[in-house]
Formats: sequence, C-alpha cells, structure tokens
Amino acid sequence: MLASLADVAPLPAERVAFRGALGRALAEDLVAERSLPPFDNSQMDGYALRARDAARSGARLPVAFEVAAGARGPAALPPGACARVFTGAPLPEGADCVEMQEEVERDGASARFRRAAVAGRFVRRAGYDVARGSAPLRRGGLVDAGAVGLAAALGRTELLVHRRPRVAVLATGDELVPVDRVAGPGQIQDSNSHALAAACADAGADPVLLPMAGDSRAALRRALSSARGADVLVTTGGVSVGDRDLTRAVLESMGTRIDFWRVAMRPGKPVTFGRWGRTAVFGLPGNPVSALVTFELFVRPALRALAGLGGPSRPVLAARLATAQVKEPGLTWYLRARSRRDGPALWVEPLGNQSSGALTSATGFDALAVLPAAATRLRRGALVEAILLAPPRQG
Ligand code: AMP
Ligand code: MG
Repeated sequence: MLASLADVAPLPAERVAFRGALGRALAEDLVAERSLPPFDNSQMDGYALRARDAARSGARLPVAFEVAAGARGPAALPPGACARVFTGAPLPEGADCVEMQEEVERDGASARFRRAAVAGRFVRRAGYDVARGSAPLRRGGLVDAGAVGLAAALGRTELLVHRRPRVAVLATGDELVPVDRVAGPGQIQDSNSHALAAACADAGADPVLLPMAGDSRAALRRALSSARGADVLVTTGGVSVGDRDLTRAVLESMGTRIDFWRVAMRPGKPVTFGRWGRTAVFGLPGNPVSALVTFELFVRPALRALAGLGGPSRPVLAARLATAQVKEPGLTWYLRARSRRDGPALWVEPLGNQSSGALTSATGFDALAVLPAAATRLRRGALVEAILLAPPRQG
C-alpha cells in the first residue's frame, strides 16, 4: 500500500513440523526426491489387462491372480490374461490398462469385458503427478493443507518456512490501567493492547505485550527500550498533536527514523511509521477504532510481507453503497461496513456508528468501504472500493 512498506524483506527461515508451517510461506523449493506416484498403479477397482487382448467389446479373459493395494512386486501378467486389481494396487508388469469392475462381468475364473479396452485407461503412471527432481512446491508459496499433503507424500516431515514476525505491542497513556486492575476515577482499561495482540495473531504474527507506559518521556523511554530487537513495534496513543502526545518525539530521540506521520485518512489520521534499526515501528492512534483500522491498513500488510506472504492482504472489490453518504472533502474515509452479495452485485452498508472511540463499532463489521478523499456526496448505489475482511453474506 505504501512505497516504504513494499520493500519489506521476509524474515529468516526456520524448519518446523507441518502443523506449525500451516498458513506460512515456504522458504525453500521443495525438490522431489521421488516420483509421485512412485509406481504405476490402478485408478479403479477392476481388472488390469493388455488393451489389445480386449480390442473389441465382449472379450473374455482368464483371471490369473489378484493384486491388492499394498501388494509387493506382483507377478507379470501372462499374455491373454487379466488380473483382479483394486484402487492403488501396483499394476502387474505387462498390463497397460485397467477396466472398472462396473464394466466387467465376472464369471468364476474368467472375466468378460463389456466394452473395448483402451490402452492407458485408469492407470496412474509413475511420476505423472510429480517427476523426481522437479519442485512441485516453490519458495514463497503458501503452506496450505494440500501443500502439507504433498510434502508428506514426498516423505517430508518438516518444512522450511519464514519466521513469524515478533511484534512488541505498547499501549501509552496516563489514563490506562491493565485489565487485571480496577480502574479508578479518570482511568480506563487498556483495551488496545489486547485488540492489537489479537489482530497480530490473526495476521499470523507473534505478539508480545509490553508493560504499558504513562505520558512522560522517562516512562516512554523505559518501555520502548524493552522493545528493542522486535521485528515490529506497534504503539498506541500519543501520536496526535496534544502537549502530552510524546510517543513520536521519544521514538525519534531514541533513534527512530520517521518515514511518515499523518495520513489523509479517517479514522487514523495521526498514524506514524518509522524504522528503528531493524525494527519497523508503527505509532497508531489511541482511539480503539482508529488503532484497529490503521492496523488493518498499514500493519497487517507489513506483517504479511515480513512473513514472506507478500501481495494483497485482503480482497478489494468494487461494491455499491447501501446508504447515501455525505462527507467533507480532503480525507479518505474508511467506513466499517457489512457486505452483502445480491446476485452478481456486492453491497456495502456502513455501520450507523462511525465514532472512532466507540468500542461497539470496533466489532461486527466485515468490510471497510473506502470513500475517496475528493468525494463529498455519494448516493445510494454509488460504486466504491470495499476491502473485504471476511466473505460477504448472501442475499
Ligand atoms: P490518544 O491517541 O493518546 O490521544 O488517545 C485517544 C483516545 O484513545 C483517548 O480517549 C484515550 O483514552 C483512548 N485510548 C488511548 N489508548 C488506549 C488504550 N490502550 N485502550 C483504550 N483506549 C485508549
Ligand atoms: Mg493519550
């Protein structure tokens, strides 16, 4: 989304068991040390034969022997005979096709083939799926359930994948108390740390909650120094223009190079991005909704890029506004919305409450409707971009 985030290089790799690799990006080309399937085998329960022995419908052949799945080194098929075979059984040498049992009438020791056999039919040739020496899974690919199956079939037990980003989450503000303490007069519970940790986990990252910091330079310095070494630092609060908004200034005084501060967007205008050594720093606003929306738009794509899962973080589709909208020009608005598919049309209905402090409006939406900066009036049905956070509802 932003030039400064696009060049994020994936984190180093680690070798992990399948379960831990799921949803992560491969950091290796998976080279097949064997072919798949490893031997010619039957695709059907039926009869293996030479196609020329049943060139016309109605041929009758003696059944020489039976080959079950798992059979080791079946005998060669005598000329003019067939073999009873089951799905996955190795094809006896000499046979070049299989006929499914539904097309065969078995009569004691012989079998009658209702239709002409076709060479190659219902045979899975060794290596047709994966040729030995080829790389069926590539570096950068997503490890999904199918990739795990393929790797297991190739005899692997682990995969080399990019490390999950380690994210230090720091809430700042004199009014905050941790969730396990009673809030006194003028105090509120720190909810952002937990919402952002959840958002990190949802993005495939490993969050670490730092002890929160009050609005003083000393407290911020102390807290920030414990974030050193994290791949990403996410702070909330203190990045706006108030006298007590010190996060950015303290970050800078500790050596963070600020790439941008303030984006022409709503919610989330004060969002800040910088680099502190090899740590990417995101200073998010304190308002709970602003924190989550800016996380979605800035932090999530960066976490995915660090995890080696570049490319778009979410589907972005054209959608129709379900309710008319009036706005000031200047800022791009990201409205929490519910999406709905109606035939081929996608609709987005912005939540009624777009207040960036309202915690109830930080949940229960599955899309962000993007109202362009220059727009002032959008009628019902106007086309806008919708960032989908979940599949749209139907009807
Ligand atoms: P700030 O960005 O520091 O000006 O904070 C904006 C608003 O968000 C204020 O009303 C803060 O009380 C609130 N806020 C800041 N940090 C948090 C937090 N960690 N959890 C919940 N609300 C917060
Ligand atoms: Mg504050």
